[in-house]
Amino acid sequence: MKRMILVGPPGAGKGTQAAFICRELNIPHISTGQIFRENMEQETELGESAKAYISRGEYVPDSVTNPMVKVRLDNPDAREGFLLDGYPRTVSQAKVLDEMLADRGRKLDLVLQITADNEAVVERLLKRAEIEHRPDDTEEVIRHRLDVYQELTEPLMSFYEEAGLLVKVDGNGSIDEVSDRIKAILEAK
Ligand code: AMP
Repeated sequence: MKRMILVGPPGAGKGTQAAFICRELNIPHISTGQIFRENMEQETELGESAKAYISRGEYVPDSVTNPMVKVRLDNPDAREGFLLDGYPRTVSQAKVLDEMLADRGRKLDLVLQITADNEAVVERLLKRAEIEHRPDDTEEVIRHRLDVYQELTEPLMSFYEEAGLLVKVDGNGSIDEVSDRIKAILEAK
């Protein structure tokens, strides 16, 4: 259970639970959103190409995102395992990831989907906005990100369900409650 994807709507607690899983399994946490934010802060070329999309709550084009993930997965620390947080977000990215792994003689072990109520995630994101000041955490952009998620990322679930990789976890409740549920899933695997 060392090559995993964590997927779920913005505000479902992906980042927090990803950190928990990575500690439990001793694997690197690869968050595409985080990589983009670091690049924007450092004003790199990659950051510049991602910025406009992110601030509007749109997905960054695959021509930028896929090569970035490829480079990250080829880092030696990801050889034995990884947790991808926020990637893939579309069926086309999932297909690229499959090819990427197949080329290296590897495959995914698990796709964990965190589910959460719409209003709960909006509330969490607005709270986070007060603390982190992310440019994409305004109410308007948050609602747009949720729509984009529903339109482009929800179809990913049937893709992974058909592949027999999808397991759902209820993301409502406290951080510890959700972590306990995840722990039980990982132990059962
Ligand atoms: P996150 O931190 O996962 O919420 O991502 C923040 C933002 O980064 C998203 O709203 C997108 O604009 C962009 N982003 C992150 N991951 C991807 C991805 N796999 N494909 C396209 N855009 C992404």
